[in-house]
Amino acid sequence: MEQYRNLVTAVQEFIHQTHHHYIQGKWVPSHSGLTMEDIDPSTREVLTEVARGGKDDISLAVEAAQQAFRDKTWRQMSPQGRGVLMWKLADLMAAHLEELAQIESLDMGMPLRQAQYGTIPMAIDHLRYMAGWATKIEGETIPVSTGSFFNYTLRQPVGVVGAIIPWNFPLLMAIWKLGAALAVGCTVVLKPAEQSPLSALRLAELVTEAGFPPGVINIVTGYGPEAGAALASHPGVNKIAFTGSTEVGRSIMRSAANNMARVSLELGGKSPNIICADADLKRAVSGSMLGIFMNQGEVCSAGSRIYVAREIYDQTLEQMTAYAKNMRVGMALDIKTQMGPVVSSEQYERVLGYIAKGQEEGAKVVAGGQAMPGAGSGFFIEPTIFSQVTDTMSIAQEEIFGPVAAVMPFDTIDEVVERANLSAYGLAAGVWTENVRTAHYLAQNLDAGTVWVNAYHVYDAAAPWGGFKQSGFGREMGHHALELYTEIKDVWINLQ
Ligand code: ADP
Ligand code: MG
Repeated sequence: MEQYRNLVTAVQEFIHQTHHHYIQGKWVPSHSGLTMEDIDPSTREVLTEVARGGKDDISLAVEAAQQAFRDKTWRQMSPQGRGVLMWKLADLMAAHLEELAQIESLDMGMPLRQAQYGTIPMAIDHLRYMAGWATKIEGETIPVSTGSFFNYTLRQPVGVVGAIIPWNFPLLMAIWKLGAALAVGCTVVLKPAEQSPLSALRLAELVTEAGFPPGVINIVTGYGPEAGAALASHPGVNKIAFTGSTEVGRSIMRSAANNMARVSLELGGKSPNIICADADLKRAVSGSMLGIFMNQGEVCSAGSRIYVAREIYDQTLEQMTAYAKNMRVGMALDIKTQMGPVVSSEQYERVLGYIAKGQEEGAKVVAGGQAMPGAGSGFFIEPTIFSQVTDTMSIAQEEIFGPVAAVMPFDTIDEVVERANLSAYGLAAGVWTENVRTAHYLAQNLDAGTVWVNAYHVYDAAAPWGGFKQSGFGREMGHHALELYTEIKDVWINLQ
């Protein structure tokens, strides 16, 4: 196939090998013997088959993780030892960066350039940041007034972590969960998304090479309602770390309730992006277009509701339309590609469905709006912009998770705050203004876990990430993430 000519040999070989589960440091076939197809969204062709895990495979993996958690090798490894191992894994990822970027690009349609310069380096940075925390998980001494006691706290790992991750940033999401869990001394069973399991499986090979004790990191591939549900409801799992849709997040919470498993959820979004009349318009337009079209709009924090001050609305819309029409949509592996295909036929139909619904509800397509068979046989959709959108339309309320923006005018700051906060979600928000008062006022009043001022889609391993309202709870990244993977133990020493 034409587009595969430039794949590094290691990727060619890796893709065509048999893909089993990674349990107890070994490759284990599915108990059922079943496999599932993995598609390349740029061509719709079957890339390879991977193991289709179920209850039995999950049980095996959870037992391996429980055993590794109790095992002396991991338990008694010094914090520095854990940090060194994590850093070694990060070094191996860096040594194989091109390979990991190509796998990601093939498997989920991420533009290669974005994988090479954005998401894979971010995953490596994240792991290194968390490796540094391994030696910094501290307790406190508490000045109790009761009796004569020395009172202190220990922060101990919560135990076995069940990590369930989505397909939009496969390796990065895996590392977000693994980084915090390993830093504090947990063990993990990871269930990658069925659409994009390959980078996690390649990571497993690097985990072995780095020298992690068997069972500390386990990976079971499979479908959500099978492998995912089995992991979420397994009584041996002490904490579920989930990133995905709000709907599945609710069902994860319900199954976790039975076992009192700790839960952190990073869910959907419908993030507002507000362009004030005094904004630097050139930066605001390109930043906002990145905000919605990066990764084909398949980002939980995509700036999909763009509010523009009425006095600059027409010219802004015109510039955005021109920007969208000029974007290079194409094969993910082509380094010139700015926007690749959406991930699957299901997602393709869903996004096109929303575009049709937006038009039925009275909104007007000013850019894109069509599937793009011309770009190749993959799941290509034009970068799409709607005007004449009202706040109650489905394209302004529901998460589309595709390259579709709604651009709406506003008149006053208080009005835009109210409208922005009408959403059930609260993950991120963008603000474009040159006025420091407006910037801080909006930052303070928007319901969002992250507010970017004069920027969009900037992330750092040290900066906490997570949502308000139905975008979930708990934070990834930063030291806040670590809290969700530890228990606090309070110790009383009688001094009399
Ligand atoms: P999306 O709609 O973007 O695919 P999902 O929330 O469906 O997001 O998927 C995110 C992750 O959750 C994937 O790994 C998927 O397999 C998993 N998943 C889906 N349904 C369930 C479920 N019922 N229980 C547990 N995990 C699930
Ligand atoms: Mg795939």
